[in-house]
Amino acid sequence: MTVTRFAPSPTGFLHVGNLRTALFNFLIARKGGGQFILRLDDTDPERSRPEYADAIKEDLEWLGLTWDRVETQSSRLDRYAAAADKLRAMGRLYECFETPVELDLKRKKQLNMGKPPVYDRAALRLDEAEKAALRAERGGYWRFRLDHERIKWTDGILGDISIDAASVSDPVLIRADGQVLYTIASVVDDTEMGITHVVRGSDHVTNTATQIQIITALGGRLPSFSHHSLLTGPQGEALSKRLGTLALRDLRAQGIEPMALLSHLARLGSSDPAVLFGSLDELIAGFDLSHFGAVPTKFDVADLRPLTAKYVSRLSVEEMAPTLARIGVPDDLAPAFWEAVHENVMTREAVAEWWALCRDGAASSIAPEDAEFVATALAMLPEPPFDTTTWGTWTKAVKATTGRKGRGLFMPLRKALTGIEHGPDMGRLLPLLQKLPTRS
Ligand code: GLU
Repeated sequence: MTVTRFAPSPTGFLHVGNLRTALFNFLIARKGGGQFILRLDDTDPERSRPEYADAIKEDLEWLGLTWDRVETQSSRLDRYAAAADKLRAMGRLYECFETPVELDLKRKKQLNMGKPPVYDRAALRLDEAEKAALRAERGGYWRFRLDHERIKWTDGILGDISIDAASVSDPVLIRADGQVLYTIASVVDDTEMGITHVVRGSDHVTNTATQIQIITALGGRLPSFSHHSLLTGPQGEALSKRLGTLALRDLRAQGIEPMALLSHLARLGSSDPAVLFGSLDELIAGFDLSHFGAVPTKFDVADLRPLTAKYVSRLSVEEMAPTLARIGVPDDLAPAFWEAVHENVMTREAVAEWWALCRDGAASSIAPEDAEFVATALAMLPEPPFDTTTWGTWTKAVKATTGRKGRGLFMPLRKALTGIEHGPDMGRLLPLLQKLPTRS
């Protein structure tokens, strides 16, 4: 069975970058009829917050990305300790004592000498007495000893990968204060939870190399790994600094529709054409991870707006009913109102502006050269109630009387009735206008 997980740290709000990872893992699990686990990587007690964990769930629920169960790393610390003991017993976990400042100095020296800044394993050369002294002075932290060989895997997106373990520092698995780090916690979870597919950002490629050795050392089964490209801004600039402004909850507040966002992200960076899907089922059926490429993917939040407008325009009056009722559209007018305005709104909430126009009328906008024409036309407007033929009959009569036609005929009348130059079909809108300009 396919088992995937989305593993955010509850240290902030989800943004579009996280969503790409969540969505891919969700789609793979659902497509394979498998399980999708929401795993909260909350081993950092200082930065993890329950409010963020709640916000993550709320954002995923808004999008309809349902999970089969939640796992929290903070409740599995004993499992990580057991794995660490096992690695220690095998001689694969060793204690180190350098301070961050000392490590930084080493790295600078290596770089100055044109060498890669890989940890030099100095701690492996300490004898027991030296270690005891350092331990008493500053406490030790623990690194996994990599086997210096090439680490290879066939990546679901990047293809064949081969990384020389000697070019990578032995990863720190446990900090001096005892905090277990992501690298081992994730491995233990992936192994014990039977994760079959791991999809994450390409910033994790080196982690994957080291995790493959840790999983193998612990006797676990390797999942299939795929690394999607990272999102950039529209000009190819790094998105990392702007991700704070691309939080899912902000997009929701702006009226972006879940299906517009999901459709966009399910195809962005893939060789499949962009599509606005109508449902999660369609989206699942149309997803193929192998069609995604390795190059950084440009993301422009502006692309979500026309997609949202398109999605909203396709909603039925029944689907719009809660919004229409909330803004005060009477039930009997709702179908005609939605029919009139559905192609003229960027978001669901934007219908409120058209309803305000229908209910309250608009300040007429009449150019001086049109004043006489508009007055003549308004005098010819029959008494309400109007129907959808009124506009056509009226403008035909006005045309016959004034000799005006085309834009010169219609635009001044639209502006006189709605105050603006664009908007819904006037034939549909006119019967809904409850306050008309005063006629002379
Ligand atoms: N908590 C990790 C992150 O957000 C998870 C990475 C992974 O998928 O393994 O980067």
